[in-house]
Amino acid sequence: MLPTYPIVDLIAQYESELEHLPRLEELGLHQDLAIETLSHPHFCHYGVQVAVLRADQLHPVISGNKWFKLKFNLVQARRQNCSELLSFGGAWSNHLHALAYLGQQLGLATVGVIRGEELDAQVNPMLQESVQRGMTLQFVSRREFRELRQDCAMLEAQGRYLIPEGGDNMLGMLGAASMMAALQTDINDFTHVLVASGTGCTFAGLRLGLPDRVQLLGVSALKGAWVQRAMVKRMAQLPVSTDNWRLSTEHHRGGFAVIDESLLSFMAEFGHNTGLELEPVYTAKTMSALFDFIQQQTIPAGSRVLFIHSGGLQGKRGFEPNPPQPGE
Ligand SMILES: *Cc1c(COP(=O)(O)O)cnc(C)c1O
Repeated sequence: MLPTYPIVDLIAQYESELEHLPRLEELGLHQDLAIETLSHPHFCHYGVQVAVLRADQLHPVISGNKWFKLKFNLVQARRQNCSELLSFGGAWSNHLHALAYLGQQLGLATVGVIRGEELDAQVNPMLQESVQRGMTLQFVSRREFRELRQDCAMLEAQGRYLIPEGGDNMLGMLGAASMMAALQTDINDFTHVLVASGTGCTFAGLRLGLPDRVQLLGVSALKGAWVQRAMVKRMAQLPVSTDNWRLSTEHHRGGFAVIDESLLSFMAEFGHNTGLELEPVYTAKTMSALFDFIQQQTIPAGSRVLFIHSGGLQGKRGFEPNPPQPGE
């Protein structure tokens, strides 16, 4: 659990240790993330201002929120003298793809436990690249995957640091919170922050990092009533209030990685109007939810919204000729 001292101090402490990580500079991270104003007739019509935090521009491979969730875990692995990082994911996991790259650049061994015993590294370019970057893949059945995720004692080994699926642990949340600390603009200029949610780690972390008066809206890419229940439970364990966040479970558009023509045409139209490229699994669904929130006046006229572009464009190529299977 979170120590009781203020989160900004905790973030500062991890940031200062992060700076001492060998070879960090070689990653070439673009740390000063731009905030750009988005103009679209829909926003104008309803009198809502929308800006985007370009976390997608952080790095071409370690895109967006994945770095923020991993960075303090790297510090922790170093504190514990670990030289191998192990984590979990599906075949299309942006998280494992980012981890493989980080491992290669920082000189750490990486292991990815993949859901689906029938798969191999050739199934898609995300896994192929991860292997090329030195990641060892272990393919396990869905059942085994669930069991390992709940109790990973079997995977523990000397010098190995375990990271949950999606980088979803306390340090992942703290890293997501640090995204707000690093802003170039005063966050109090905004009334709402909007972000896509998968595991919910980024969403919960942002809540920790935001001032109370800024509303946080999340859009779940996953389907199911459990998503909301899990978030309520998670938030109850964090030092946050209950009335300044909302996670929509109504905008998954059929479920995780389910993509239809209307979403693709929304994405194309939006890109054409604003010049901002989105991907279909997370950010396009979240942006289309924003259109609804504005129209329904859940976000009223006069609001100033900061949309977090959480990245994911490196996984987008999967949606061109062969769509991935739901489940990752
Ligand atoms: C992984 C991912 C998310 C979800 O982040 P969580 O912390 O798991 O909720 C959102 N957007 C993009 C582009 C992602 O790749």
